[in-house]
Amino acid sequence: MTQTLPTHARVVIVGGGIIGCSVAYHLTSLGWTDVVLLEQGRLSGGTTWHAAGLVGQLRSHANMTGLIRYSTELYAGLEAETGLATGWKNCGSLSVARTDDRMTQLKRTAAAARAQGVAVEVISAAEAGALWPVMEVADLKGAVWLPGDGKANPTDLTQSLAKGARSRGARIHEKVRVTGIATRDGRATGVQTDQGEIAAEVVVNCAGQWARKVGQMCGVAVPLHSAEHMYIVTGRIQGVHPDLPVMRDPDGYIYFKEEVGGLVMGGFEPSAKPWGMDGIPDDFEFSLLPDDWNQFEILMENALIRVPQLAEAEVKKFYNGPESFTPDNNFILGEAPELRSFFVGAGFNSMGIASAGGAGRALAEWIVNGAPTLDLWPVDIRRFARFNTNAAWLHDRVKETLGLHYVMPWPNRELDTGRPLRRSPLYDRLAARGASFGSKMGWERANFFAGPGESRDIAYSFDRQNWHAAVSREVKVAREAVAIFDQTSFAKLLVQGRDAARELNRLCAADIDVEPGRTVYTGLLNKRGGYESDLTVLRLARDRFLMITGSAQPVRDMDWIARNLDPAAHAFVTDVTSAHAVLAVMGPKSRDLLSRITPADLSNAAFPFGTVREIDLGQGIGLANRMTYVGELGWELVVPVEMAASIYDLLHARGADLGLTDAGYYAIESMRLEKGYRAWSRELTPDITPLEAGLGFAVAWDKPAFLGREALLAARAQGPARRRIVQLTLEDGSRMLWGGEAVLRDGQPVGELRSGFYGCTLGRAVGLALVHNAAGVDAGFLHTGRWEVDVAGERLAARLHTAAAYDPKSERPRA
Ligand SMILES: Cc1cc2nc3c(=O)[nH]c(=O)nc-3n(C[C@H](O)[C@H](O)[C@H](O)COP(=O)(O)OP(=O)(O)OC[C@H]3O[C@@H](n4cnc5c(N)ncnc54)[C@H](O)[C@@H]3O)c2cc1C
Repeated sequence: MTQTLPTHARVVIVGGGIIGCSVAYHLTSLGWTDVVLLEQGRLSGGTTWHAAGLVGQLRSHANMTGLIRYSTELYAGLEAETGLATGWKNCGSLSVARTDDRMTQLKRTAAAARAQGVAVEVISAAEAGALWPVMEVADLKGAVWLPGDGKANPTDLTQSLAKGARSRGARIHEKVRVTGIATRDGRATGVQTDQGEIAAEVVVNCAGQWARKVGQMCGVAVPLHSAEHMYIVTGRIQGVHPDLPVMRDPDGYIYFKEEVGGLVMGGFEPSAKPWGMDGIPDDFEFSLLPDDWNQFEILMENALIRVPQLAEAEVKKFYNGPESFTPDNNFILGEAPELRSFFVGAGFNSMGIASAGGAGRALAEWIVNGAPTLDLWPVDIRRFARFNTNAAWLHDRVKETLGLHYVMPWPNRELDTGRPLRRSPLYDRLAARGASFGSKMGWERANFFAGPGESRDIAYSFDRQNWHAAVSREVKVAREAVAIFDQTSFAKLLVQGRDAARELNRLCAADIDVEPGRTVYTGLLNKRGGYESDLTVLRLARDRFLMITGSAQPVRDMDWIARNLDPAAHAFVTDVTSAHAVLAVMGPKSRDLLSRITPADLSNAAFPFGTVREIDLGQGIGLANRMTYVGELGWELVVPVEMAASIYDLLHARGADLGLTDAGYYAIESMRLEKGYRAWSRELTPDITPLEAGLGFAVAWDKPAFLGREALLAARAQGPARRRIVQLTLEDGSRMLWGGEAVLRDGQPVGELRSGFYGCTLGRAVGLALVHNAAGVDAGFLHTGRWEVDVAGERLAARLHTAAAYDPKSERPRA
């Protein structure tokens, strides 16, 4: 039946699942009431209707936990607001551990969650059994209990959100299919549907597993792929009652919840079954896939171990529903870098019910404010690049992604599928020298180099891992002689044009309008003074700048720069990452080594710190940038990709007697943390200002105008920041830090480690923590307290450093 659609709306939302309805609910709450939501079938008929409805708060990133905590608050009050029941039940949840490692992981997560204000208790196996009497506990090591968790009815919740949105003016049209996205001058301007066109200022793609296809309608990459996700519903089981908590047994890949006196039992098997390779049918509404007991077998076997009574229970229903999964098991949120005013909220990896409240609010705020209001990097659409939407790659990756829910989330765990993809020209050479590769933004990067008799396969653990000796060797050589780090994966953005200097100086907190040949370390700040990026700017000519930034950030940084350039200015940004390899030659003997392959004068006088020159390198040529991320004398050689291998070979040929070695990213992590160097996305985020980061020195306070200046000046006028990044080392040199651990001062939680690693030169673990104090984090606060780090419930004595713990020029490190 044809309906009368409006011809115009401020916002058109594509998709009436729980996410689209939550976005409509929150947009209208924020006062944007001219919202139209289009659903090709009936509300919740896509993936939402068959969700199990579990709502668990524990996440590895504080802001992600915060989003779900908000969901629980919203769901608890929604019925009172809209009059429509949501099935929300605050029954709490249990996660049980079969192994000591799992128990350690649960304790670590519990400590972090507690520091974020989530109610959580570590309990014994017997206590878990008392809360969940139908479970077998003899083999368990313990559990964590989250009283604030719960469950909801996904369809009712969706209807309730839709009613809330409607009551504030949103118009919801079912049985209307969006068939195209209208665009003009790089912006979305509306939608075409099977029943006419609607012009809009903003279009939001909440099309669930169809979102990749909707993105393709306008050239926007939405990297997700469907996989089958299964659960069963049993008949009544004795001892199962309506208040039974949700229970997760991740070592068995399974979860349980009560339903009508029986159990819902489903899970996340380690090797999933991709679906929808030939496209997702448009009319896949209130539909399921065939039962697959073979695929389900591993879950069933484990469920019988945990709940032996299941053997006698009747299986009333087998649900096999497709759900979309992303390359990293986090959802996709934000304005598309390819198309202005086109937003995406999709790819919920079987967490859409739990996430909908928080994600819907975050996306609505992003739309209304024109920018996210908190650090959403783990779910930001700009963490992906266009190669991530390759269907063959996605197909292989989602087999692994689904299982990530319950595999051990080891601190430095690498994914195995869809690799190797992007390779430096040195890849084979590094492999031949024993490289153990990790992956970032699709790039294969050497984490460390295994020596003779050492394994390049990581034996994961929360303590020291099997590469400890290899990395210690690399750090020692880089600190005492010279090492090469292949940092080809660095993102490189070229900004050119007559107005490039003026425009970039407005975007950078430091003064980048320096003489050509100078390199400047700077932050790119948002209006709140928080870090959108931190990078180095190489001024190559009056009208040409090369910006070198983190491997994960090319899309995000390019987007940030492009959207903030004055459109009328003569300034253009181009991603040139793939044109240049980067060889970082670092260590006290780096000058000696480089002098053997270049006639250039590398003396301090001729080539001071913070300068860049084009120099001959063997028979090749490249930029030498005197900069360091490891705290040693050194040059980053930015060379044409096709010359990298020749230059690398020559360095090795000439450097053997200097003790030259290859070194990897673990050595970089160790060395940068010893020096207290901050990293974007860890210490530096959109929520953190240079004052809080202790990087006020890298701000050109005298510059008349730059983005974020007003917020920074206001913050500085208020006195000591209430939050600060500080460096901590553990007193016990045998222990390890990974980041995410809670930090205590005089026994009270005051923050968390943003990064942690082993400081191989210091001989102890070192980390950078964000600590807070309502009265200001001043010298008194920092120097008078007793500092500890909570490592899986154990409080380890720590030392706080206001100057870098390793700084050869000032204080010598302890032996
Ligand atoms: C078996 C199973 C169990 C699950 N259990 C849980 C759980 O316990 N807890 C949890 O948090 N999550 C769970 N999930 C995940 C959860 O169901 C999803 O993450 C969530 O429903 C996704 O919501 P959505 O709005 O993104 O997608 P959908 O519900 O699929 O909504 C997208 C909508 O967009 C519409 N659409 C698509 N293209 C167009 C177009 N061109 N024009 C108009 N409309 C269009 C579709 O028809 C669809 O209705 C489970 C999933 C499965 C499969």
